Amino acid sequence: MICQKCGSENVNVQMVSETKLKKKHHGILYWLCFGWLIELLLWFFLTLPMLIIKIFKPKNYKTKTIHKSMFVCQSCGFNWKA
Ligand SMILES: [Zn+2]
Repeated sequence: MICQKCGSENVNVQMVSETKLKKKHHGILYWLCFGWLIELLLWFFLTLPMLIIKIFKPKNYKTKTIHKSMFVCQSCGFNWKA
């Protein structure tokens, strides 16, 4: 690999990991007003089913990890993506 800027061959390759967290959630106001109340009622009436759901339901957020190769020139410091 040759640096695109200065033409030097002294280029390192770095693996860059980006972790993005996507989370579905209600607004703060929703939880302040109704969220705790609904959850409380559900726990009161459906303690056992809720317990089972809490254990077995999939978590409502997804993590996505992207691996990217970054080339970094040791001579001039120029870096670019693969
Ligand atoms: Zn360079």
